[in-house]
Amino acid sequence: MAHAMMRSATNYGTGEHVALLVQKYGGTSVGTIERIKAVAHRVAATRAAGHDVVVVVSAMAGETNRLLDLAAKISAQPNPRESDVLVSTGEQVSVALLTMALLDLGVPARSLVAHQVRVSTDGVFGKARIKSIDARRMREVIAARGIPVVAGFQGVDADLNITTLGRGGSDTSAVAMAAAVKADVCEIYTDVDGVYTTDPRICPAARKLERVSYDEMLELASLGAKVLQIRSVEFAKRYKVPVHVRSSFSDEPGTWVVPEDPSMEDVLVTGVACDLNEAKITVLRVPDRPGLASQIFTPLANAHIVVDMIIQNASEEGFTDLTFTVPRTDHAKALSMVQAVAPEIGARGVASDMSIAKVSVVGLGMRSHAGIAARMFDVLAGEGINIQMISTSEIKVSVVIDAKYAELAVRVLHKALIEDGLSETSA
Ligand code: ADP
Ligand code: ASP
Ligand code: MG
Repeated sequence: MAHAMMRSATNYGTGEHVALLVQKYGGTSVGTIERIKAVAHRVAATRAAGHDVVVVVSAMAGETNRLLDLAAKISAQPNPRESDVLVSTGEQVSVALLTMALLDLGVPARSLVAHQVRVSTDGVFGKARIKSIDARRMREVIAARGIPVVAGFQGVDADLNITTLGRGGSDTSAVAMAAAVKADVCEIYTDVDGVYTTDPRICPAARKLERVSYDEMLELASLGAKVLQIRSVEFAKRYKVPVHVRSSFSDEPGTWVVPEDPSMEDVLVTGVACDLNEAKITVLRVPDRPGLASQIFTPLANAHIVVDMIIQNASEEGFTDLTFTVPRTDHAKALSMVQAVAPEIGARGVASDMSIAKVSVVGLGMRSHAGIAARMFDVLAGEGINIQMISTSEIKVSVVIDAKYAELAVRVLHKALIEDGLSETSA
């Protein structure tokens, strides 16, 4: 098939003329036997329409959590290498079952796990990063008019250890596969029919976006919109893979995640995101001197703990408080590391808070319009919600608040900044 020619004719507004697609099916989409069979029918229909397909699948809904629970029952701190050997099995089950279903439909499919397509990653268990993928095996299957059904979420490090890519990592597998095979589109099939202005489960007034730019999606994903894993959006942006997020339960078009165009800046606020997966650590009353931050943060960086927001209070009488946030899953580890450093740097103590939420508003229009942050603070103040930390970038404003106000904050910010529309004058 003349891929190169057809690819140049790709119209990702309609999905017509697409020649090579990667379709990723998330946990809910393959959550039951009936759903796996339904996915097989969808894949078969795509092929019958003349397209080549690479399928990437997640574990059946709930399976990764079930496996993690088993590990937690065996050990208080499961060995990270063995934990990856365990959780990667969820995806192996789904690729085999989906491939069987396709074969029953007469579609020559073939399951492939990470080592068979050489998904090479670094060796950071539980949150490995993909370095390269060998597209050869997938191309061979496609060339024989077959369908490679590839396990998401897993990789292999330089020592052939099994690794996993972090929660939601199948999205990243899919986009990386799409880049490797030079697919026209990466379709992400999930349990919502697109990317919404905010999590539709929290805010019923959320509406589906037709298009969203890579940069906005990067912010939304990193700020808690789990519909796409952040690394998947990084790959999509770097390799210019158009991503189509859509529902596996309907044929309606979903949301296109695509390069920015000038009209996108007209929208001041595109989305509101909420992240309940961070925890806050405060190093109390440390003598304010050069090298302090480095002594605290270097060990965390060496342990691959991603520090997000950081604030340092104005120094008073030569002392300062330093507060920062880390992923909740790394909280215990980070806290013990900081507690170990505290006496060395002369801190009075270390405090921590698990019940925080980070709520953010994102929009390309913020680049050229002032006043969004002020409006955001105003809306939160109107509800009596106290802001503990603030951070901004060119296209987002984030605040840390008490977790118990998270849903309220999302709803009132969505109402004020998106539903009520924010005109240039009111900004
Ligand atoms: P999958 O198992 O298919 O990968 P996920 O549960 O990882 O699905 O991601 C889909 C979920 O993301 C939705 O059910 C929704 O609750 C959540 N979500 C959070 N923010 C958004 C958003 N802005 N738009 C759409 N979904 C969102
Ligand atoms: N099964 C993995 C998870 O639950 C990966 C994924 O679904 O994307 O996180
Ligand atoms: Mg997901």
